[in-house]
Amino acid sequence: MSSSRGGVDVVTEALTELHGRYGALSEGRVADYIPQLAFADRDCFGLALMSMDGHGYRAGRCGVSFTLQSLTKPFVLALVLAELGADEVARSVGAEPSGEAYNAISLDALTGRPANAMINAGAIAVTALVPASGPADRFARILECLGRFAGRALFVDEDVYRSEAATGDRNRAMAYLMRGTGVLRGDPVEAVDVYFRQCAVRATVTDLAVMGATLANGGTNPVTGERVVPEPVAVQVLSVMAMCGMYDAAGSWMLRVGLPAKSGVSGGLVAVSPARFGIAVHSPPLDAVGNPVRGVAALRELSERFGLHMMHNAAPVAPTVLGSTTTSGGRIALIAAQGRLDFTAAERVLFALEQRRTGPPGGVVLDLERVSGMDPAAKAMLERALTLLIEAGHDVTVVGDLPFRTRGAWRRSADRAQALAAAEQALTATGDRPPATGRDH
Ligand code: GLN
Repeated sequence: MSSSRGGVDVVTEALTELHGRYGALSEGRVADYIPQLAFADRDCFGLALMSMDGHGYRAGRCGVSFTLQSLTKPFVLALVLAELGADEVARSVGAEPSGEAYNAISLDALTGRPANAMINAGAIAVTALVPASGPADRFARILECLGRFAGRALFVDEDVYRSEAATGDRNRAMAYLMRGTGVLRGDPVEAVDVYFRQCAVRATVTDLAVMGATLANGGTNPVTGERVVPEPVAVQVLSVMAMCGMYDAAGSWMLRVGLPAKSGVSGGLVAVSPARFGIAVHSPPLDAVGNPVRGVAALRELSERFGLHMMHNAAPVAPTVLGSTTTSGGRIALIAAQGRLDFTAAERVLFALEQRRTGPPGGVVLDLERVSGMDPAAKAMLERALTLLIEAGHDVTVVGDLPFRTRGAWRRSADRAQALAAAEQALTATGDRPPATGRDH
């Protein structure tokens, strides 16, 4: 987003720099096996980033719409996973990287299933799984779902659809093979027709960034606020993208860029930084594998420069335990935590509690006032740890009103001062307890 004063913000500046640098790349071929795609402008190049907070950034030509082609595959997979569940979907399509081209005849010798849903065979099988009363209804549901991911209604490019329908015999042949193996029920020609329509849905690189951001955001569109698919489905789709999204270059992509991604023959590329953002690039020339040359180069640099690799620094950035001190002459331990608690953050709190648990019984005040939220797993871990503390004879007070599933035997307190006073009082009342340290005696 450019501002009127003082140029652009830092993120836009970085995208603009990548746009300038990689716009000069002249390698790659515009796909022409779908005749209509050959008309694409090979110089068109746009980058868009949408954060899970709904902050958008752009550089280059981002208003141009193009057919999504294979970029629809993860989103239709999401629809089918949400409707049928992973077990049912697994009967028709695998989740193994094929290491083969997107149009490979990749059917398992034993099960007849395609290797994964990111290559054509798997995507055709997935499209056929969309529950519907017939092909028209099936496509309507797909179009609606893609629109919810993008946050606006999308439309089909009839010319591109017709162009692929007229030439797409390889995909039709694969559909027949899959009917032969029992993976595809129904009419193969009809199944492929819905798939071709799906591939011909047009969107801009900005739409694509929003679609990616919806997956990054656990299935809720960060712009419209609409929940498009349940969180576990977003996780499943990102897993498949991470392993299979870049076809036979999936391994080197994971090594160098390290983000779940998907490319399409129209030159689009979407990558997702989980719990952070979606980023999309559009530039038609493709490398030998069918991935967009400029998109791959730009994302590789972006990932290295901003440390975006998924395996990099996965731990929470801020410290979780703010303070672990003792008062009342060592008889009361005060442990304060902050931020959102996941497994790792909860473990940090538990570590601090554990050091207290194994010592002589005393007061423990756990201040959760600055904890912004908890994963169910973290909540369960914390509840168990508090129970163990009590079983070890400690007097426990929790500050903050985070909802615990069960009411434990610990005291709840609205603020820290009150909690410390209550703990003090409890220790005095049960004066027979041994002090935690000998210092005040
Ligand atoms: N519609 C294209 C096909 O089936 C999609 C392929 C792609 O984008 N990689 O050939």
